[in-house]
Amino acid sequence: MPELPEVEVTRLGLKPLLKLNVEKVVIRNYSLRWPINSSLPEVLKNQTLLDLSRRGKYILAKFTSGTLIIHLGMSGRICLVSHEESLNKHDHLDIQFKKNNLILRYHDPRRFGSIIWTEDDPYSHKLIKNLGPEPLKKEFNAEYLIVRLKNKKQCIKNAIMDSHVVVGVGNIYASEALYHAGIRPHRISKKISMKEIVTLVQSIKNVIKEAIIKGGSTMNDFFDVNGENGYFQNDHKVYDREDEPCFKCQFPIKQLKLGQRSSFFCKKCQK
Ligand SMILES: [Zn+2]
Repeated sequence: MPELPEVEVTRLGLKPLLKLNVEKVVIRNYSLRWPINSSLPEVLKNQTLLDLSRRGKYILAKFTSGTLIIHLGMSGRICLVSHEESLNKHDHLDIQFKKNNLILRYHDPRRFGSIIWTEDDPYSHKLIKNLGPEPLKKEFNAEYLIVRLKNKKQCIKNAIMDSHVVVGVGNIYASEALYHAGIRPHRISKKISMKEIVTLVQSIKNVIKEAIIKGGSTMNDFFDVNGENGYFQNDHKVYDREDEPCFKCQFPIKQLKLGQRSSFFCKKCQK
């Protein structure tokens, strides 16, 4: 599943399209989480792509009269291709630009992604307005997190994966951040100390920052339509390493299920 770092790298990779005008839009398959608006080809024609931003895992592509809110769902992928590029199965949408022979192509085999057009403020859209802070922004800090966790009986791993608490901390990044912070994933949120929360916030920022940097360096693979859309963070310290030795203490990594998601931790390094 594309996570925040993959979405951020996608956004950065789309920058060559900024300030270009739309030649035409071709919808080949309307079926996504919600059907693609059938008037999009008519609406977007001749509009200019003015800005590309991101909120959580949503890419906000601002055009002259509105914004496309794009989510990659489970298996969505955006490629920049030229006119010569052949079509693949599951290519849902092309936005063809007037200059530079460029096409933004949206591909999504599992069809859980979404492409929504709004002419209102995208930040007040129902999918976006209630999202928690961005992990890399100043608003996500220890003072904020301790308040959010103070009455929570939920385990800490599920709490940091809740997009109302903080956006973009997926399953892998949650396991990794808790390992770096030395906190067991199944600890009760409200019992985590301030000192631990300070470390946890920093660990979340580091894990996500590192993944974005790695992703940026493999951007060519990411935009290869035939390539694998893998996690950038593929040198996991605990994730998917059950029974393998911990990198710090050599003790075997344990796995447990929390809310149906696999969690990995070191019994010695995480308290
Ligand atoms: Zn260890």
